[in-house]
Amino acid sequence: MAGLQTPYYLIDLAKLRGNMEKIARLRERSGAKCLLALKCFATWSAFDFMRPFMDGTTSSSLFELRLGHEEFGKETHAYSVAWADHEIDEAISYADKIIFNSLGQLDRFGDRAKAKGIQAGLRLNPRFSTSGFDLADPARQFSRLGEWDLPRLEQALDRINGVMIHYNCENRDFALFDLQLTRIETEFGEFLKKLDWVSLGGGIHFTGDDYPLDALADRLKAFSEKFGVQVFLEPGEASITGSTSLEVTVLDIINNGKDVAIVDSSIEAHMLDLLIYRETAKLPQDGTHDYQIAGKTCLAGDIFGDARFAERLSIGDRISISDAAGYTMVKKNWFNGVAMPSIALREEDGSVRLVRAFPYADYKSSLS
Ligand SMILES: *Cc1c(COP(=O)(O)O)cnc(C)c1O
Repeated sequence: MAGLQTPYYLIDLAKLRGNMEKIARLRERSGAKCLLALKCFATWSAFDFMRPFMDGTTSSSLFELRLGHEEFGKETHAYSVAWADHEIDEAISYADKIIFNSLGQLDRFGDRAKAKGIQAGLRLNPRFSTSGFDLADPARQFSRLGEWDLPRLEQALDRINGVMIHYNCENRDFALFDLQLTRIETEFGEFLKKLDWVSLGGGIHFTGDDYPLDALADRLKAFSEKFGVQVFLEPGEASITGSTSLEVTVLDIINNGKDVAIVDSSIEAHMLDLLIYRETAKLPQDGTHDYQIAGKTCLAGDIFGDARFAERLSIGDRISISDAAGYTMVKKNWFNGVAMPSIALREEDGSVRLVRAFPYADYKSSLS
């Protein structure tokens, strides 16, 4: 590890294996297929490691779809809130199934999927969700995410084989999942019986500690048998949670009433999702020395959060920010021209391998 220049994201394959083994167990016990949601995590140098444990990928755009097809392989689902005319044929060429967001998109492009022999699906919006944050709530008022009106869903029946229902958001509560799935069964059961597959989307935090994995598996199996459908899950965060850190170095320490350590990274540029959802980074919390950990951009609020250390910090000290994979690496950006974190893998034997650095040429070529 010494010698690797910070900042860098460090993917720990031993930790990732823990999640992968839970996914494999869930698949085996439930019969559900698990597709990695690339919008959460698309660091493809980890795909060789993940592939044996998962069934493939799902996407939210043509580029994600292509990446899944090229780098992960196996089953590739294509979804987009709206496909453009110039995208659709290429999308179909990569996909095993294509899921349309609206009846309008199915009307427009369904025939092309059929002509190429791939199955089509439609997004079903059950009009409830577990998201407490309006920004990420697919059931919010006037939501554009999927169809909910049964007569409209039925108009699609002769053209689709399945539906995708994404309504969970970091849901750690199996009882709530069970309750909401029962609601789906009650409200849409007759419709689901006419389909071959149902994707229940992502957002189920089933790789978390203490999650009743077997209860979930049994519930999914019962659902699958009751309606005669192949179940899919699309875990994003659950696939990679707890596997990755952002490694940074202290560059300066300032006291303007509070000890502030400035590090060679930026929450705006390297962990943007936290800022959007007004969360703080997971920082060390052991010891009696308090510091605010802040980024090096000129944004006043470029603050990762408060940390505690056993010893006073010194310039040059390393800090490890945990849980830095999901919705993080996919959103990194070049704000302020701050050096973008490299990507490194910690192999299961403990050795660390640099897989990608982002030199000045990458910054320059991101604009023109
Ligand atoms: C975001 C998303 C996922 C992944 O969600 P996680 O919370 O990361 O598991 C899966 N499917 C769809 C349709 C999504 O929009």
